Amino acid sequence: MKPLFVTLPPGTRFDLKAIDPGATGPFSHKDEAREVTERNLARLAELQERLYASASHALLVVLQAMDTGGKDGTIEHVLGAFSPQGVQVTPFKVPTEEELAHDFLWRVHRAVPRRGMVGIFNRSHYEDVVVVRVKGLVGETTWKARWEHINAFEKLLVEEGVVVVKFFLHISPQEQAERLRARQQDPTKRWKFNPGDLEDRARWGDYLAAWEDALSRCNTPWAPWFVVPADHKWFRNVAVSQALLTVLEGLDLRYPPGVPGAESLPIPPVRW
Ligand code: AMP
Ligand code: MG
Repeated sequence: MKPLFVTLPPGTRFDLKAIDPGATGPFSHKDEAREVTERNLARLAELQERLYASASHALLVVLQAMDTGGKDGTIEHVLGAFSPQGVQVTPFKVPTEEELAHDFLWRVHRAVPRRGMVGIFNRSHYEDVVVVRVKGLVGETTWKARWEHINAFEKLLVEEGVVVVKFFLHISPQEQAERLRARQQDPTKRWKFNPGDLEDRARWGDYLAAWEDALSRCNTPWAPWFVVPADHKWFRNVAVSQALLTVLEGLDLRYPPGVPGAESLPIPPVRW
């Protein structure tokens, strides 16, 4: 069966140009994929309830992409399957003055979900090895040292019960152009149009190179990267849901047994 996403053994190099953003895996039509997505989402909701009830692990989902890559859509259409009570979404923007006065992981560590919860990072600490590099916001020795800091940080999280799943939603520059045009022209999308995205678009190759390094250097056995072809939103949704399902199914999440003897306690009548 054709794969839904690309994972690589640690130590190998991601070649993003060799991964087709328009791939649709085994699906020839979106209706086929939609059926699988629906099934996956129902199962994910069930597993999230177990995660919440058992509080044995937290799940941290990292979403990264070029601008317009579909991070928001993934949160809405895939992670939306989870109960809002068990989810917290954290967007990472240009750091504030206070954030910049700390180490780059300070704001990130604070946002890590507690056990039982799903945390979603809309952008993440990976901005600190990508955008800062492309824009020259920190020196080369600083961003180069951060790959290892990130690996150590993620290892700490995993060893303390946080399951870390990282997605790179991979779109083509052609698809980005379409989506930017849609943002310009559609009044319901114009609020998302950021002229700054055009400057980033002009440096596509630099971003791609920085992402290839980040993906390759920080693809560890404890926190692997999933590269998802994302030109087709329906395919992205099925691929992300499938990857999450695989990870959560592997955890053997169980409902806690509850209070001993709970099942035989009589429920007293109430007069009212
Ligand atoms: P958006 O996600 O579209 O609201 O945009 C957030 C912006 O913040 C993007 O342009 C990111 O590249 C930028 N950003 C996020 N984290 C950092 C960071 N650590 N350093 C510099 N810029 C960042
Ligand atoms: Mg941008």
